[in-house]
Amino acid sequence: MWFSLSHMFRKRQTMMYPEEKPDLGPEFRGRPVLVAENGKERCVACGLCARACPPFAISMQAGPDEDERKERGPEVFEIDMLRCIFCGYCEEVCPEEAIVMSPYYDFNFQARENAKFGKDKLVKDKAELQGRLDFLQARRNANYGDVYNFEESNNIHTYRNRDSQ
Ligand code: SF4
Ligand code: SF4
Repeated sequence: MWFSLSHMFRKRQTMMYPEEKPDLGPEFRGRPVLVAENGKERCVACGLCARACPPFAISMQAGPDEDERKERGPEVFEIDMLRCIFCGYCEEVCPEEAIVMSPYYDFNFQARENAKFGKDKLVKDKAELQGRLDFLQARRNANYGDVYNFEESNNIHTYRNRDSQ
């Protein structure tokens, strides 16, 4: 009885979800999303994430990109959320920091075909994902070196201008 009574005056832990939502911090791994910078996704459609994905949840179709910074991008990019196991391998292998685990966890669908999330649902502005991007930068394996940090100057393989080569 004393134990129960002592808990009655403690701070309430229950949240009125979905009106109230918890702050899960940047370490939380919600559904994977594509990072967009200046209104365009960073992805160069290299296919590494699809290769690394254990349940084959990712599919994409590459196409030419007229962006100054890169020469191709994903015309189609889909993640089947019925297959995704939130393992984060796609985030780990991506050389462009173009796909990251997001803070978004509450989604639903009532038919199998709606579980395929396309670019309309996947692409999110970098500002929304800054917490996760900073978290990843701070925890990169130092043995990999700076080349694995996302910087435009590192992305020489995606530059269109090859006059100097
Ligand atoms: S989190 Fe894992 S299962 Fe989900 S898309 Fe990425 S690699 Fe595939
Ligand atoms: S690994 Fe990154 S750059 Fe390559 S296809 Fe996947 S999201 Fe795009």
